[in-house]
Amino acid sequence: MHELSIVTSIVETVTESLADYPGARVKEVRLRVGALASVIPESLDFCYGIATEGTPLEGSRLVVDVLPVVVHCEPCGLDVELEGVQSFRCPRCGTPSHDLRQGRELEIDSFEIDEVEEKK
Ligand SMILES: [Zn+2]
Repeated sequence: MHELSIVTSIVETVTESLADYPGARVKEVRLRVGALASVIPESLDFCYGIATEGTPLEGSRLVVDVLPVVVHCEPCGLDVELEGVQSFRCPRCGTPSHDLRQGRELEIDSFEIDEVEEKK
């Protein structure tokens, strides 16, 4: 299940960023996932529960923003959003394009942490 390794590396990245906030708990992690990233959001969510166990992310929510596929259409001179991932044709003029501008992302957009309780 490659979602688990993806989620594990996300947990590691977030945990590393928490080094400056000792004792902080993560409330929510937001991901940007392209429609072509070939991950199943439900599966990510399931693996997230496993991967966050015993980490500062335990109990936090995983929010997945799925990004549509965007290609650049030469005849139109525009970046156009595709209606699906089956056909790489410009929805405006029908010209096939493989000049991908968006759709393979798999990155952390942001994460929210609880206020650190002890302040000295
Ligand atoms: Zn076009």
